[in-house]
Amino acid sequence: MARTPHDLGDIVRRFRSDLEAAETLTPVQGRALSAIGLCRTAALGGHQCVCLDCGRKEDPSYNSCRNRHCPKCQGLAQERWIAARTRAILPTPHFHAVFTLPDQLRPLARVHPVAIYDLMFRCVAATLLEMARTRLGITLGLTLVLHIWSRKLTYHVHLHVLVTAGGLTLDGETFKAVEEKFLLHVKPLARLFKGKLMDGLRGLRKDGVISMTDGAFGSLMATLWKLDWHVYLKEAFKAPEWVLEYLGRYTHRVGISNSRILEVHGERMIKRTFNPGFRINLHQKALNLALAGARALLDITLSINANLPTE
Ligand SMILES: [Zn+2]
Ligand SMILES: [Zn+2]
Repeated sequence: MARTPHDLGDIVRRFRSDLEAAETLTPVQGRALSAIGLCRTAALGGHQCVCLDCGRKEDPSYNSCRNRHCPKCQGLAQERWIAARTRAILPTPHFHAVFTLPDQLRPLARVHPVAIYDLMFRCVAATLLEMARTRLGITLGLTLVLHIWSRKLTYHVHLHVLVTAGGLTLDGETFKAVEEKFLLHVKPLARLFKGKLMDGLRGLRKDGVISMTDGAFGSLMATLWKLDWHVYLKEAFKAPEWVLEYLGRYTHRVGISNSRILEVHGERMIKRTFNPGFRINLHQKALNLALAGARALLDITLSINANLPTE
């Protein structure tokens, strides 16, 4: 990893007390900040590698915190995740689909993340499997990866799906490849997904998971129904392993990492914007780093918590 001029651990150590004077941290947030503040410092002890044959010693280094929110510690978790997914991938071409949760459902997803993300997984899988069964007569192979924030660190819930270009015939006997450039039409896919997700929301409300008044729920449903929902589905031009690597890099990236911190002024902060492929301008905002930056960090800490698969 290239050296960057600023270290998130330094910032946490420097500004944590300011943050805690203004915000109440949840236990998870507190633990994450403690781990990031201690990672690779003398507080966690150190180790030194010694060659048993020649006795040569490497420079001693401090131990890592291994916290899943720590940018220094995510590299290994990412490699493991990619390796495990790659082993499970079928040796066939794939399509790449993206299903996005409409903006109107963000507030609900913030309050009930587990229920809504779980519903997304079930509805996306059911939509693809059902359409492929009825239109193509096959059972697809799917790998689903949840992303809940965009490159600009905004809350943006979407599911990436690696879809096999073909599947098992319904008798389960043979694999039927799909040679065409497209797999399924996106419009009926989006409509089916919409129907399933809205049904799922009604179910969650009936089961008491979502508590909303009749009026509020009714108007949310009416708005969702009027919307055009969008689904992306394209042939994956690169090998599925490449797509997994891309998704894994993104899934395991911690929101604020050292390379994203350009200056630390205490009172003011310059934050780099990440637009795909190029770096446009520097956002120069009068932000109080201790509060706004740390708040973003906490938000991301929560987000990445939901993003990481548990193995
Ligand atoms: Zn760490
Ligand atoms: Zn994504």
